[in-house]
Amino acid sequence: MHILDDPAVSRPLRQLLSRADRRDPTPEEVIRAQARAVGTAGRVSRPPAEVVEAMVGFEHRFGGIAYKLIVGNPITYGLNGRPTARAAEQGWAFKGIVDGDLTWGLDVLADGRVAVDFGETVPYRVLCRSVEQRLENDALLAELRHRPHRSFEFRVPNDVVPPITGIGLPPVCTEACGPGLLWWVGDELAFFAELGSWIHEGMDRWNLWAFALRATEVPDAREVPAFGTLQPAESDWCYLCGEPSAAGRPCAPALAN
Ligand SMILES: [Zn+2]
Repeated sequence: MHILDDPAVSRPLRQLLSRADRRDPTPEEVIRAQARAVGTAGRVSRPPAEVVEAMVGFEHRFGGIAYKLIVGNPITYGLNGRPTARAAEQGWAFKGIVDGDLTWGLDVLADGRVAVDFGETVPYRVLCRSVEQRLENDALLAELRHRPHRSFEFRVPNDVVPPITGIGLPPVCTEACGPGLLWWVGDELAFFAELGSWIHEGMDRWNLWAFALRATEVPDAREVPAFGTLQPAESDWCYLCGEPSAAGRPCAPALAN
């Protein structure tokens, strides 16, 4: 079933998808007839059967979705042009998602994970454990970014899962969490950590936001015990707002809400 027709999706995701555009997906027979694979040496061949099935399954479930999130360029899902799989670092992958906020195409791996390949000079990174998880992330972000928030950041060595315990945090929102995206969401407070970069001095830089219903109640992440060992610093730039953030104060657009 296409996710736009699925009544079982979560409330935030239903809300996000309710304002999504629906474009024509690539027909299954076109995928089966035209799919090709480009190997590591550039040799073109028929893709393995499981890769074709992954493409067909992806297009059936997600093909044609388009929505705007942060910057305003659409985030699109679907096999555009001739379906082409490529031997990526972590297995066969195809370009199935264009992230309008990154203005970059994302890899959908044959096992369903979502990764980003910025080219040879930047290590390949898996960001999401599934396409649905990525959508759940975007749905929460679409909802919570309009709440008052403060922006922080922390660093861990490359590929180390940030050691964050539940102390002082709302419940983990498992549906939205993946290798590069972490969520804790309650009725009043929420926290969101997103892997921002991984190219400097062997360190991963994560952005971290604290959200609250009211501007006066936005927590200082540096005082939340769960983040203590990470020693977060307040950011001077908020990527959600695309603006500088003032020390000690929630973002100005949020104050207007
Ligand atoms: Zn902001």
